[in-house]
Amino acid sequence: MKIRKLRKTTQILTMLAIFIIPMINLLEIYFIKGTFYSMDIGDLAISDPLAIFQILLSSKIFNITMLAAIFIPVLLMLLLGRVWCSFFCPYYTIVEFLAWIRKKLKLKSIKPKYKKGDPSRSNTIRFIFLISGLVLTGIAGIPILNLILTHGIISSQALILVKFGYLTFEIVFVILLLLIEFFLIDKFWCKFLCPSGTLLSLFKFKKGMRVKKQVSECSSCNMCITVCPMGLDPQTEGDNILCNNCGDCIDACPDNKKIKTLKFKI
Ligand code: SF4
Ligand code: SF4
Repeated sequence: MKIRKLRKTTQILTMLAIFIIPMINLLEIYFIKGTFYSMDIGDLAISDPLAIFQILLSSKIFNITMLAAIFIPVLLMLLLGRVWCSFFCPYYTIVEFLAWIRKKLKLKSIKPKYKKGDPSRSNTIRFIFLISGLVLTGIAGIPILNLILTHGIISSQALILVKFGYLTFEIVFVILLLLIEFFLIDKFWCKFLCPSGTLLSLFKFKKGMRVKKQVSECSSCNMCITVCPMGLDPQTEGDNILCNNCGDCIDACPDNKKIKTLKFKI
C-alpha cells in the first residue's frame, strides 16, 4: 500500500472525527471529548505539548498531571517522527487539498526550487518565532500562541459549529493563512512559522523513524526533491527536523519499483 493512501485515509478520518466527537457529545456521550488543544479519551488525557508548555510557563506552576498529558504525542514523535503533521493535523490536510485544487486548475506552482541551505533558513525562522512566542507568553502570563494554533482553531471551530451552529472570529486567521498558501507560498505556515510543529521537531530522535537512502547510486531523477513539501533533499536530509515523515518522496521514487532506494528506517 502506498504511504500516501494510508496518510489520506488517516487525514480523512481525523477530519471526520473533529465533527463527529462534538456530535456524540450532543447525545450526552462523553467517552471522548475535547479539541486538538486537549482531548480526553476515557480517563486518558492527551494535549498539544505547546499548549501545555504555555500553561506551565504562564502560570509558573509545575503540574505533573498536565505534563502526563503530553506523554503520547511526545512518544509518537520520538518513535515515528513528526507524523502528527503529515497524518493528522487538519490544517495540513486542508493545505494539501488546496494544493491539489491548484494542480487541477493548472495554476502555476510557485513552490520554490530546492536550494542547499533552505531548510536551515526555515528552521532558524520557525525557532525564532517559537521562542519569541514563548517569551511573550511568560511575560504576558497568558498562552498567547494558543491563539494561532491552526489545528486547535480548526477543531474548536468545528466543535462550536456543531454545538451552536456558527463560527467565531478566530476562523478568519486560518482563512487568511489558507489564502496565502493558495495564492502565494504553499506550506508556508508549516515550513516557516507553526509553533506547534516547531516544538514537535525538537523531539525528533536520531533512532526514530526517518527517510534514508539505501543504495549509493540512483537514477538521479530528483523526483523526491521535486515532491518534498518541506523543500528538503530526501536523499541526504531525511534526518532534518523539518521533515514531517509524509513519505511522499518514497512514493515518488521510480527506482523504488526495482530496488528500495528510499525508505523509512528506524
Ligand atoms: S506544522 Fe503546524 S500546522 Fe503544519 S502540520 Fe504541523 S502542527 Fe499542523
Ligand atoms: S523528506 Fe520525504 S518524508 Fe520528509 S517531508 Fe520531504 S517528502 Fe516528506
